[in-house]
Amino acid sequence: MTPGGSTPELRIVEDATCTFCGCVCDDINLHVRGEQIEKAERACVLGKSWFLNHDRDERPDCLIEGRPASVSDGIERAARILAEARYPLVYGLSDTTSESQRVAVSIADWIGGLVDTTTSVCHGPSGMAFQGVGEVTASLGEIRNRGDLIVFWGSNPAESHPRHFTKYSLMPKGLFVPNGRSDRTCVIVDVRRTKSAKAADLFFQIKPRKDFEALWILRALVQGIAVDESLAERETGVPLARWQDLADRMKAARFGVIFFGMGLTMTRGKHANSEAVLALTRDLNQFTRFVCKPNRGHGNVTGADNVVAWRTGYPFGVNLARGFPRFNPGEYTAADVLARREADAAMIVASDPLANFSQPAREHLRSIPYVVLDPKETPTTRAATVAFTVATYGIHVAGTVYRMDDVPIPLRPAYASSHPSDYDILKGIESRVRQLASQRA
Ligand code: SF4
Repeated sequence: MTPGGSTPELRIVEDATCTFCGCVCDDINLHVRGEQIEKAERACVLGKSWFLNHDRDERPDCLIEGRPASVSDGIERAARILAEARYPLVYGLSDTTSESQRVAVSIADWIGGLVDTTTSVCHGPSGMAFQGVGEVTASLGEIRNRGDLIVFWGSNPAESHPRHFTKYSLMPKGLFVPNGRSDRTCVIVDVRRTKSAKAADLFFQIKPRKDFEALWILRALVQGIAVDESLAERETGVPLARWQDLADRMKAARFGVIFFGMGLTMTRGKHANSEAVLALTRDLNQFTRFVCKPNRGHGNVTGADNVVAWRTGYPFGVNLARGFPRFNPGEYTAADVLARREADAAMIVASDPLANFSQPAREHLRSIPYVVLDPKETPTTRAATVAFTVATYGIHVAGTVYRMDDVPIPLRPAYASSHPSDYDILKGIESRVRQLASQRA
């Protein structure tokens, strides 16, 4: 109801963008009445829950030490915390626009701090592997139009990215796969029979923590190198004949794709696993066209990698304390810096490290002054020195996000929020830390 008592008119926001997962579906029609999204046409179950659960939020725009404060006071306090710290950390960034990410990296630069994103706890090993091996890549549009052998390795899109199969990878009819699903072969490799396995033509259940061995067996077979039959089965749990069949199918594909997930990147081997899958893809290009893509989770985690890489040359875990970027995962990644009790202040953007970091990291974060910008109330916002409640990207705020294939997509928000955008607050903090930095110089 409007203040006058009448029911607001129904508006349709066409081709809105869902930022819940890395598929970043940009074909959602939102039915909006006032400040309520009533329907999200074409969204999957996760997307619907994302769009339909944004009720009016009455929390103050800013809390300083748990007490309501003005946004300008919050910006002043935040800027001082960051500018006066000796080793400040900027972390999170995967659930906001690329415009905001850019400003957050600038703040890290001005304060001589460290910038890290949630990539360091999901596809960080892939970021390292891309630097070591390179990436043979394609857009999801190319995959939709050309892919005829689709492999999912350590990834369960049926549950994590529900429209992946139908919009991009398995079901769509494409220019060179006119019969859609029947023109494609789907292979799933995982340590357990996930919901996605039901979609597979060929399912490979490998032993846990044996992805590296399985990928190197495939690399050998693709190159025609003999592999010991009993060793292959003992190591991977899958008979050599099945690996040989897969290697042959990969070489015979017209356009093959491997999508890999955290079941590969965060199990034993980590970046060595990612390097193995990228190297296998590179090897396959001696025979046919083959590409490889990580299945990314958060709505704009790919944007975070892109923005941090444009600004610093590295995708995450970057130290700017010496006035030039240094990259060293493990040394400059947020979870490690906090667990070693090194950071003495932090700014967290749209992330909840108090819910998912190790206990030593969580304990240290609680012991230092930190600023948080988040649309949601979380354990991290509740313990913050300065907490800003901000508008939600894609629902209230326009901007740009990057789909998991590095394609930038514009946001078409549904309605304005009573809360400020994180972009405006970050710009305010950036301006103030610059002033403080120039006063110190
Ligand atoms: S697949 Fe992902 S981006 Fe697409 S509607 Fe579902 S949650 Fe949103």
